[in-house]
Amino acid sequence: MLGVYISVPFCKAKCSYCNFASGVFGGPGSDRMERYVERVCAEIRSARVRTTEMRAELPEQVDTVFFGGGTPSLLSAGQMRRLFAALRGEFKVTADAEVTLECAPGQLGDQTLDELLRLGMNRVSFGVQSFVDAEASAVGRLHTRAMCLAEIARMRAAGIAEINVDLIAGLPRQTAVSWRESVDVALGSAVPHVSVYMLEVDEDSRLGRELLAHGTRYGVESVASDDETAERYAEACAWLESGGVMQYEISNFARKGHASRHNRKYWRREPYIGFGLDAHSMLRCDDDAVRWANTDELARYEVQDSRFESPEVERIGREQGFEEAMFLGLRMNEGVDLEELRSEFGEELIHGAVAALDDLEEAGLVEREESRVRLTARGRMVSNEVFSRLLVETPVG
Ligand code: SF4
Repeated sequence: MLGVYISVPFCKAKCSYCNFASGVFGGPGSDRMERYVERVCAEIRSARVRTTEMRAELPEQVDTVFFGGGTPSLLSAGQMRRLFAALRGEFKVTADAEVTLECAPGQLGDQTLDELLRLGMNRVSFGVQSFVDAEASAVGRLHTRAMCLAEIARMRAAGIAEINVDLIAGLPRQTAVSWRESVDVALGSAVPHVSVYMLEVDEDSRLGRELLAHGTRYGVESVASDDETAERYAEACAWLESGGVMQYEISNFARKGHASRHNRKYWRREPYIGFGLDAHSMLRCDDDAVRWANTDELARYEVQDSRFESPEVERIGREQGFEEAMFLGLRMNEGVDLEELRSEFGEELIHGAVAALDDLEEAGLVEREESRVRLTARGRMVSNEVFSRLLVETPVG
């Protein structure tokens, strides 16, 4: 089954830390948004022809759809209707598909919500980042805690049980105490899913530029150090788990039975296709897989004709596929099953990885239980180091 990602790069305001291909490109109902939706619909309609040219397998059945961005909740009811019509014209969206909308609190109109419910949307992911108003406004978020909690209640009243809240550890103005407050409010709201990210200040964000210029805007002087951020992340893992929201991936936590089906596809290397600005795709093919990414320049995306530019397609061979299966699989708490990998990729590649895994186990960074390997809590804190050691020490170059 296929996962579909639809990127909607429009935002009401640009958050100070944001380095995504998103911006204040025009409000709801603007010509630009209208043109963009048309482009995405055209891209959906051309998917089968383009993926056939790539010699990739495009499954017909879709069991997850994710509207991300940006702020896709800014689209109108009519624009959503057109996107779903294009999608259902090309694919069979299963009756029980998980359909997620990323949403900035306070930025989903009643009409769009009603239409989305009619179209099958059943999961909402709120970009809260902080439930402490001074922190949220310091990074340019337009909501307050009261608005977030009211939005969660509104979704429940509309019959949506699957609700995620994103939080960021290490935001400007965040303290150890205010971080605890944010996590506690998330727990108190009883949402079944929480994502926790560690702030990484990108030099292309406004916050990053201010930091480089030794400026004082955006609360830049109060950004937590890497060590403090890591400590807050570790604390959040413990607090959430003691509140029954269990970690299932480095950044993702859920009450039992509420893990995101769409995101799991990324870590399990199941096929997904992305439409829209900067959307990424991975489909299986005879060798192993193909990956490609759309342009991240809106002006360029807008002017593509109905056939679309052929993206640069990366062909993933068996060895690279094995590496991906290890790195992506180890992001999940369930880890990877070496027996499954052996039957998919062969003994030789497994053999090379086992020596590196032995070293990592001795260092307390991974643990093994029969054929299953997973990161330890310490391993999750330094996951990039673990992955690079696996890369260096496996003979797959
Ligand atoms: S709402 Fe999200 S995508 Fe938009 S500017 Fe803020 S962080 Fe970036």
